[in-house]
Amino acid sequence: MNVIGQPPSRVLSGMRPTGPLHLGHYHGVIKPWVQLQHVHDCYFFVADWHALTTEYEDFSESRMRENVWDMLIDWLASGVDPEIATIFIQSRISQHAELFLLLSMVTSLGRLERVPSFKGQQEVLQDRNLSTFGFLGYPVLQSADILMYRASIVPVGADQVAHVELTREIARSFNYAFGREPDFQTKAEQAIKKLGRRNAGLYRKYQQAYTERGDDEALAKAKNLLESNSNISRGDRERLRGYIEKRGRQILVEPDAYVTEASKVPGLDGQKMSKSYNNAIFLRDDENRISKGIRSMPTDPARTHRHIPGDPEKCPVWDLHKIYSAEETKKWVTIGCKDASIGCVDCKGPLIDSVLAEQKSHKERAEPYIKDRTYLKKVVAEGCERAAVVAEDTMSDVRRYVGTSSYR
Ligand code: SF4
Repeated sequence: MNVIGQPPSRVLSGMRPTGPLHLGHYHGVIKPWVQLQHVHDCYFFVADWHALTTEYEDFSESRMRENVWDMLIDWLASGVDPEIATIFIQSRISQHAELFLLLSMVTSLGRLERVPSFKGQQEVLQDRNLSTFGFLGYPVLQSADILMYRASIVPVGADQVAHVELTREIARSFNYAFGREPDFQTKAEQAIKKLGRRNAGLYRKYQQAYTERGDDEALAKAKNLLESNSNISRGDRERLRGYIEKRGRQILVEPDAYVTEASKVPGLDGQKMSKSYNNAIFLRDDENRISKGIRSMPTDPARTHRHIPGDPEKCPVWDLHKIYSAEETKKWVTIGCKDASIGCVDCKGPLIDSVLAEQKSHKERAEPYIKDRTYLKKVVAEGCERAAVVAEDTMSDVRRYVGTSSYR
């Protein structure tokens, strides 16, 4: 959160254009965005290149185009405000590709293969060929997206924290590779000698423990040692801290993950809501489909008859009540389920009403954007223009440090 008098932190977040949003997207991603945009400088983008990493085989230009617009319509109808947040499309900012390329130079293959989603997604999406460089490298592209805007906050679900950690590591590697002063190593080695024989030995021991085993305690001890040593100058102290952490000048800013509260949104089959599981309720869905879908949702398997008590905690319908129902209704469900004074059909009634009411107002808000695509295009054009200015600013720094601007 911001401290009064300080500029707002920058937030970066994107979504793959998979078409109209479903309730899982809305409660898990869009609602936090709407809150964040009032406090921070937010950049929200359509991650169309990311969509290609898994969808390239059955790519359809018209489908991608409609998915992009459909998603933008739902963003705006849900309250994402282009007057205060910057909304743009990834592929329109070509600097993302340039930074992706440069970051890939400092990212090891082994590190990418250890990203949990690399193996995980390959197992889930077995019908697709994901043995591609693009799929292996997509966390590097994600890092480029974040680092381009020098974002300090990245809203993610708990399962995405590892990606932000990788982004931090990549930023550190990049800063170390390209942000070091000339003769950095020679100067660092000279500074170690100035520590005195005993302390130089300790420094090397801590350096080895941190570099080889990631021993944080050793890092803390090294920092204390440098802090308390009066033989070295301030510049040498800073240099030796950078030497142990493999850190150079801060060209790219390490972001922090902002873990959004996990809201468990079950799909119509009781599993996690997902378009690929075919169990989603979309934000602009058909009323009959919603009513029918919720009525046939699985419930606590123990309630095989109306007169048998159940346990809401074992029922996916209850997870939806937790999101949609007022305290009074939730109390009615809890008591009624446990003493079997209500049946599952009764229980689902007020839930259907709440979801339909939300849909009604969402559809009304979406209507003007559906009718007027010119407005949507204007929003995107203005957002891309703002994003391109920030991206170019970062890249001119990056090119200067990498050295490529010197022979332009
Ligand atoms: S009464 Fe409601 S909470 Fe209980 S099992 Fe039926 S649907 Fe689920």
